[in-house]
Amino acid sequence: MLEKRDLHVAALRVFGRSTDGAVQWPYGLHNAARRRRWQTPESPEDFTRRQASQRAKQQAITEWATGLGLRRSQVGCCPRWLTRTTSRKCPSEPTHPEQECMVYGSDPRVGWLDHVIAWNLNGRPAVFTTAPYGLEDIHRMEVASLVAPDLQLDAAFGAGWYGFGTQQVILWRRDRIPSVPACDLPTETYC
Ligand SMILES: [Zn+2]
Repeated sequence: MLEKRDLHVAALRVFGRSTDGAVQWPYGLHNAARRRRWQTPESPEDFTRRQASQRAKQQAITEWATGLGLRRSQVGCCPRWLTRTTSRKCPSEPTHPEQECMVYGSDPRVGWLDHVIAWNLNGRPAVFTTAPYGLEDIHRMEVASLVAPDLQLDAAFGAGWYGFGTQQVILWRRDRIPSVPACDLPTETYC
């Protein structure tokens, strides 16, 4: 278990530093802030629990990424990012349908592309994770259809690091990283 300072240092390496010196946590992993005045009042005990829960998520994902040598990509957008030799997002004006970024549009097959994080290994696209609220057959089929024709791609499913009962989808490039375990939280988090 990383001490607070070690977690900060490790997380800066994995996620990068924002202009105010804080860790650039992905969506849903920020430090717990006191609820604003117009929100439901929160007891000090509830705030402490929420803070501990956020910390547990930060700890889990930072240790997972550090153990694998992964760093978050700032540009990775969808599974197509994984197919490239360098870390580049999909073109904004695609000339072919297969160049279109998968995160846009309302196709129900891509409903699993939620809480997306793209991960580089040695500066190259290696792992792509998502944490959808639900994982339906149509989503599993879509993941399988990405993996089947590409010998370099592999996929796994797990419980979500995001908490709130989310699932976890992991895609990775076998030529750059042999296997990737799910990043499981030690306990269900409080929200
Ligand atoms: Zn994309």
